[in-house]
Amino acid sequence: MKTTLPVYRPVLPPVESLLPYLAGLDASRIYTNRGTLNEQLESRLALLLAGRAETLVTAASGTAALQAAILAHAGRPRGGRTLALIPGYTFVATAFAALAAGYEPLFCDLAPASWRLRPDDLPPGLHTEHLGLVLPVAPFGEMPLQDDWSAFQARTGIPVVIDAAASFEAALAAPGAAVGAVPVALSFHATKSFSTGEGGAVLWADREGLVRAAQAMNFGMIYTRESRTAGFNGKLSEYHAAIGLAWLDGLDRRIAARRRVAADYRAAAAAHGLADRLILPPEIASCYALFRADTRAEADAVAAALAAAGIETRRWYGLGVQAESYFRAHGAAPLPETERLAARILGLPIAEDIGAADIARILRALATGDAHE
Ligand SMILES: *Cc1c(COP(=O)(O)O)cnc(C)c1O
Repeated sequence: MKTTLPVYRPVLPPVESLLPYLAGLDASRIYTNRGTLNEQLESRLALLLAGRAETLVTAASGTAALQAAILAHAGRPRGGRTLALIPGYTFVATAFAALAAGYEPLFCDLAPASWRLRPDDLPPGLHTEHLGLVLPVAPFGEMPLQDDWSAFQARTGIPVVIDAAASFEAALAAPGAAVGAVPVALSFHATKSFSTGEGGAVLWADREGLVRAAQAMNFGMIYTRESRTAGFNGKLSEYHAAIGLAWLDGLDRRIAARRRVAADYRAAAAAHGLADRLILPPEIASCYALFRADTRAEADAVAAALAAAGIETRRWYGLGVQAESYFRAHGAAPLPETERLAARILGLPIAEDIGAADIARILRALATGDAHE
């Protein structure tokens, strides 16, 4: 019996590589609240992702980044605009961030043959006068649609915040392209392709907006100890910032390793005639490899065959947030296109250090429905 291949196996910087960064903490005794490690991380990330300083603030998680961006941009709901329009095809965090900021999620379906919400695809008959916020998602780390949503926001006056939790590599590949009038939230969770263990950031062209986001993440306090806006504790600690800095020190080596994995995956898929069934990095983030089944029954059969072969698969977004029991109990309506798509997309194992032999084993199992030898 071979060991089970996990769907994702993160690798964060080795503990020794954190020590040079952490050594300063014993003297400074500043462990959080935007210390020097956090400052260094923010400026390095801003240069890498936006090509210029003061375009990013860090957060304790991707969810905290979303919540802070919502509070800094839309504020809490006002004037009957209590709904946040959210595509069902996302991780539950998108909806929880809206709830935490005071909005009621209104889940919307996907257009056929698409996996992300675009401004042109908003449901007909939508009561936009009740919308206080739109939260589009960049699924699986695709490039956020900054221009499309900035134009929508300018046209309608409805604030937009993009959940681009997994889009670090997309932003890195085209510095500045993700940054604009719509704030973008990134996650640095261990399962994402750049990680501080737990963490996140808001990327935004609005400098004052970023200050408000930092304020929201510090109980509404900035420069003084007075709460002047809505807030919560969303700060990244210095320990987590050290992980991010050590991670960036290995950036080039990591990118090369991921290119090798993506190339191995593509070659193996092509060898089995499955190239058109796999969605792979760099089209999506390198923490994902996806199999696209034609039907839910096929996806279930493939998942069962892979499980029997010791290969884990995952529907990363479940069947959509609207299908989660908590949100169903709160009145979320079924979304047929979302459920059809979500049922067919299976996450396959991937990791920065997954070997060609394991990738071959996954493809064999996919092709034959059985990897037992
Ligand atoms: C990972 C993820 C989040 C949540 O990020 P955390 O850092 O775990 O809070 C939100 N939305 C999407 C689409 C994600 O993939």
